[in-house]
Amino acid sequence: MQCYVFFGIQGSGKGTQAELLSRDLNFQHVNIGDLFRDQVSRQTELGQRVQAVIARGELVSDDLVFEIIGASLVSGREGIVFDGFPRTLKQAQYLVEHFEVRQVFFLELEEAVAVARISSRRVCSSCGANYNLISHSPLHENVCDLCGGELAIRRDDRPEAIAQRLKEYYEQTEVLREFFAGLNILAPIDASGSVTSIAASIRKVIHQLEH
Ligand SMILES: [Zn+2]
Repeated sequence: MQCYVFFGIQGSGKGTQAELLSRDLNFQHVNIGDLFRDQVSRQTELGQRVQAVIARGELVSDDLVFEIIGASLVSGREGIVFDGFPRTLKQAQYLVEHFEVRQVFFLELEEAVAVARISSRRVCSSCGANYNLISHSPLHENVCDLCGGELAIRRDDRPEAIAQRLKEYYEQTEVLREFFAGLNILAPIDASGSVTSIAASIRKVIHQLEH
């Protein structure tokens, strides 16, 4: 099975790009965080194991991650776009052993820009609509355009949580970058521009792969 992989700093827009590419190619978009939440909310056997690990304050093991991916793949798609996976070297090795990795897109963005983007995110506390004070601000300050609800900052997007996530990100990233660069499948992408221009850079890399 063919796949593409996205990784990059929080705020680089990798989730958006992974979604756009998966739609274009009729690939399955696999966001690991969403897979976990889905298994937990459906209370599957895997979901209950994930919940137990999290309740103990531990990290979900690589083997459990592999099981969840295996259980979540749908048929009828021509490939997979991974988003948020791999996070460890062991996961990266599993990936290249089990899938034909066409390209790994590394979305590069300066930390200051990333932090500004993340801390501008707001979510409606009533209907869950997403806003961004930089790129998609509400018509009235702190009020949801759709339902009039009050806008809030997600717990994950508060400064102390951002700092923790960035620390984890830098710890994980270097080893992954070296691993994929060594296999000649790493494509650095400048993620400072618009969604459209980042998507265009990604298409250009894919086009070159095909010719
Ligand atoms: Zn709302």
